[in-house]
Amino acid sequence: MLSPNKLLKKYFGYDSFRPQQQEIIETTLSHADSLVLMPTGGGKSLCFQIPALMLPGTALVISPLISLMKDQVDALNNNGIPAAFLNSSQTFEQQQYILNACHEQQIKLLYVSPEKLISDMDVIGQACKISLFAIDEAHCISAWGHDFRPEYTQLGFLREKFAHVPFIALTATADKVTRRDIVNQLRLRNPQVFLSSFDRKNLSLDVRIGTKPKEKIKEIIDFVNDRKDQSGIIYCLSRKKCEEAYEALANAGISAMFYHAGMNSEVRSSVQERFINDELQIVCATVAFGMGIDKSNVRWVIHYNLPKNMEGYYQEIGRAGRDGLPSETILYYNYADMAMLSKFAADGALAEVNLEKLKRIQHYAEADSCRRKILLNYFSENLTENCGNCDVCDNPRKHFDGTVTVQKALSAIIRTGEKEAVRMIIDILRGSKKQDLVAAGYDKLKTHGAGQEIPAFDWERYIMQMLNIGLLELAYDENFALKVTEFGKQVLFEGQKIELTVLQSLKTAEPATKTRKTKTISSDEELFNKLRTVRSKLAKEENVPAYVIFSDATLREMAQDKPITPSDLLTVGGVGEHKLDKYGSYFLDAIIDFNPNASAKAKGSTYKDTLALLKQNVSVQQIAQSRNLELTTVYSHIAQLYLNGDLSSLSSYITEEEVVEIKEASIRIGNVRALKPIFVELNERLPYYKIRLALAILEKRSS
Ligand code: ADP
Ligand code: ZN
Repeated sequence: MLSPNKLLKKYFGYDSFRPQQQEIIETTLSHADSLVLMPTGGGKSLCFQIPALMLPGTALVISPLISLMKDQVDALNNNGIPAAFLNSSQTFEQQQYILNACHEQQIKLLYVSPEKLISDMDVIGQACKISLFAIDEAHCISAWGHDFRPEYTQLGFLREKFAHVPFIALTATADKVTRRDIVNQLRLRNPQVFLSSFDRKNLSLDVRIGTKPKEKIKEIIDFVNDRKDQSGIIYCLSRKKCEEAYEALANAGISAMFYHAGMNSEVRSSVQERFINDELQIVCATVAFGMGIDKSNVRWVIHYNLPKNMEGYYQEIGRAGRDGLPSETILYYNYADMAMLSKFAADGALAEVNLEKLKRIQHYAEADSCRRKILLNYFSENLTENCGNCDVCDNPRKHFDGTVTVQKALSAIIRTGEKEAVRMIIDILRGSKKQDLVAAGYDKLKTHGAGQEIPAFDWERYIMQMLNIGLLELAYDENFALKVTEFGKQVLFEGQKIELTVLQSLKTAEPATKTRKTKTISSDEELFNKLRTVRSKLAKEENVPAYVIFSDATLREMAQDKPITPSDLLTVGGVGEHKLDKYGSYFLDAIIDFNPNASAKAKGSTYKDTLALLKQNVSVQQIAQSRNLELTTVYSHIAQLYLNGDLSSLSSYITEEEVVEIKEASIRIGNVRALKPIFVELNERLPYYKIRLALAILEKRSS
């Protein structure tokens, strides 16, 4: 049995564990329960995948996102790890086939949705010797969390039923209450809690309050134009806003698309795929977008509207900069968003919780001190120093005695019987003579025109501050009428003094991170782009997302190190043995092609040299020996030469019967075009190289 470290290298291609990963793995191996809290991109998956490889039997992974299961399983298969998923989209036969494979202990990880697990528990329990339970996205169990899924609450019985199986619950977002709820509801036994830092230092934080809609879109277009070729996501509150934002960008000639639940699933996956593969620069999306997308090079995230809560906000900005490089986030926030969201929250189930959560993010948006401190504090972490990478740190707030300003607004509200919404209150303060105002007799009020010197938009922002301080309340159920609180009355009637924050001038407010102009493209960058092209071709061929082949971080390291032999390539993070075997030659060829000097060193390891030798009737074995290449590498050259049209036939390497046999095996396992599953399906009867050649033949025939 290999150690966790050896498995990490062999299957995942990494040299060392990240903080906590090893301890978490050891906890599970010792059959204890654990609760893992790690930010998105922190590396949670490995924490149960490595124990799954080490323990006898099959690990059950419970995950709420059926659409992602296939990708996760593809990624594991691509690392040479036998995994499968079970869900209701499969036929009875497919499910039987998978359960059979589990029964024969051929599957190390089985992904299931909670509803599937509950409905088919007996069958699954009989088929599998369960090695561990991993409950992914565990916050879904809690009504206090932001993504409550009622199916999760039925999982509580598992702990007792499988008394000897270790449980590991994982999540990227959980405040203290949610954490307790996860432990209680899953009935975890004395779980070890692993809490990683949630600080993502590479993300700049910027909030812009009260920008007018037209200016907002103009600002965004300028922002994007300063960041040519950088991927970004714009999160919007509604489908309509997504389309609006998209249209404005498209009209400005920017490569963008929108994404929301109102589109059919094919279009949605195409948008997602093009974004992942860098064919689309920007997506304007509702929060449905990005769940579990492993795109490491998202350089910025903009919130077009205020998110519903801190958890969602943190998760969404967390989609930026997973590769650890500096990335920017901007949150736009105005009165209309706040009113709308308050109404949503108040109308839905769990109104009290949701309103409280909304309040917390409003506080964050209106922050007077370092934003990162507030953000981390929300996740129960304390930052002692100011971060220096948020708009408040860059531009410390000033305060003034706002008592008189506040009193004017409070008085206008009281005098209209606390039944008017913000528009009317501002019109009164500004001394407007609008029809409905005059009709209501408000032009006769003492406060009519008392706040003329303050522009309407500034009034709106002061009123937001007043709501935040707790001087006012918004009655969502009374057409958003403003009400004065007890505290407000103290200011109005008892001379309580109030400080307001000086409004930031919107035009001069600078983004927290200074504009990084497009650099001249370095040669590493050029090679990186070449490698990306290779990757997206492979991804298309196999019908998997690009990251399932290699992550951006891996391609970056390749572009930097420029390995030219298989053993060099194996030292790149993210290249394990299986991927080396399957994809190595494609990337080595691209690197060598890119750097002609290297090819002399590599004794000409391009497939063109293979072609020259073949034409001289040198055998494949001899080619491999003389050039110090793996046999499989030479055969993958041959497959490539055949696809390019340099070789017209492969009949001297593989018979038609074998091609048919491989084709049928591939169909049986669901049209999978990957070497290992076919190899296994054929009971290891045919060597890898034949499968590779057959796949090339099938590909050519189908095109
Ligand atoms: P999470 O589920 O926490 O969002 P993932 O498990 O998807 O994160 O991991 C995020 C990325 O980090 C993946 O590309 C993964 O391969 C990589 N990764 C995980 N552990 C390590 C490690 N020890 N060394 C290098 N990269 C790692
Ligand atoms: Zn700060």
